[in-house]
Amino acid sequence: MASKPSKPKPLTSSFILFLIALLVFTTYYLRQLHGDFQTYPKPSTNYPGWYDVVSRRVGREWFNIALVNMDDDEAAALETKGRVVKVEMGPLDEGLRWSDLFPEWINESSTKTRCPELPMPEFGRYEELDVVVARVPCSECEGSGWRDVARLHVNLVVANLLVRSGRVGGGRPVFAVFVGCCGPMWEIFRCDDLVLRVGDSWIYRPQLRRIKQLVQLPVGSCQVSPPLAHSGSELRGAEAYATVLHSSEAYVCGAIALAQSILQTNTTKDLILLADDHVSPQSIHGLRSAGWKIKRIRRIRSPQSRKNSYNEWNYSKLRLWQLLDYDKVMFIDADLIVTRSLDHFFTYPQISAAPNNKEIFNSGLMLLEPSLCTFRTLMRRRWLVRSYNGGDQGFLNEMFPWWHRLPKRINHLKFFRSDGDYEHRIAEDAYALHYLGLKPWMCYKDYDCNWDKAATRRFASDSANERWWRVYDGMPEKLRRFCALTPEADARIRNNRVKAKRAKFGDGHWRIKVNDPRQIHLS
Ligand code: UDP
Ligand code: MN
Repeated sequence: MASKPSKPKPLTSSFILFLIALLVFTTYYLRQLHGDFQTYPKPSTNYPGWYDVVSRRVGREWFNIALVNMDDDEAAALETKGRVVKVEMGPLDEGLRWSDLFPEWINESSTKTRCPELPMPEFGRYEELDVVVARVPCSECEGSGWRDVARLHVNLVVANLLVRSGRVGGGRPVFAVFVGCCGPMWEIFRCDDLVLRVGDSWIYRPQLRRIKQLVQLPVGSCQVSPPLAHSGSELRGAEAYATVLHSSEAYVCGAIALAQSILQTNTTKDLILLADDHVSPQSIHGLRSAGWKIKRIRRIRSPQSRKNSYNEWNYSKLRLWQLLDYDKVMFIDADLIVTRSLDHFFTYPQISAAPNNKEIFNSGLMLLEPSLCTFRTLMRRRWLVRSYNGGDQGFLNEMFPWWHRLPKRINHLKFFRSDGDYEHRIAEDAYALHYLGLKPWMCYKDYDCNWDKAATRRFASDSANERWWRVYDGMPEKLRRFCALTPEADARIRNNRVKAKRAKFGDGHWRIKVNDPRQIHLS
């Protein structure tokens, strides 16, 4: 009889399998429990979770720690770990409101216009810091519209400590840790600089040169941001003007005139146009000849706008943050023209803009800093954050409530409140004119057709209209073709003229004999 081949004992092999499974499971379970093994502290210590992460990156176990808005227990837990100092922040005036820091109106021309002071620590007492740890007051965790003076105060104290007591320009890294579910203000501490989040602790390694620039700015829009020096070359990278076209061809002519007006200022920057597929290849050709470099995009719906409303797709502007080839972008709506060089405003950080009303900025012209994590955050938050008008301006103001005020004349809104004033003259010293209401290329050259409708006359200005057509007159014929009047637009203007005549509008623009050749050469 042949002998049986020897088989492995079934009991032994299942036991080995069991042991492997147990090992895998335990590893997995412990990882779940404690997050990343590499970065989470060993159990049975009472010092906080961020310590090991920072310690490893600082390269030492003993380092200088400043605590902001933290209590004695938290300081005691760290005493064996470094030189711990509790920072005296100074008392915040309890009556101070966000609207004091972001007032609707300020006297831009007065040098006496000053922001309220936020108390700051005596920086001389806190030197050579390795990490600043702060508890952030969070009224909500995932909320929006953080217009909270106390939160801003803590963020600015940390920023100032890092800059003044840290190691700007030095080789050694400095960290900031924010404790609180809402984290720091991302306008100051960029998401790009987030090292790790462990529970409610947010660990940042901020770029101190950027922070240094931010703490030099006024604490709110209560003052116009003073001119910033062209800081060292390390901070300055590629810069571009950009605009966006989506959903129709209605603004193609506007974008062409905008490019031509920028080029007339002899800019040294790139001109980038984001266009969705509603912009035809012929238009793209014209836009390119006008000076734009084209990038095709998929448009983004404004989640809260009404269907077919004028701003249904204007979250497409969020794609500006995807322009990663540039460190800084000056976005300009396609219904503006530039009348003086804006190049020197590129020194300003995200988000610098001109005011709109209340505490908000106008999103028709704004400086921004492209970044993938910013783009992703904006895309994620658009579902949750309420926009007061359903459009990008409402959304971006909720996302960036801490913005920097540029003078009104950088984005001169064609908007007039006063009744009975038939002049509606625009400011001579404007840098860029923003054509609110019916756009010049949808009107006649002879006068601003916003005069012909009661609802739009607050946007009417012949001097602004004349300024836009000056750009048009300087354009080559092949580009002017993109500004032809459609028969429908022409019919609409004529109809409004008839109505204005019947209503005997006092400004009398309906009497003007129209010579604009575009009414004969209809497209
Ligand atoms: N836009 C566009 N297609 C549209 C509507 C708007 O491309 O159908 C772009 C264009 O760049 C425009 C900007 O979105 O300048 C913002 O819209 P608009 O200027 O009409 O808004 P307003 O400044 O008048 O509020
Ligand atoms: Mn606009």
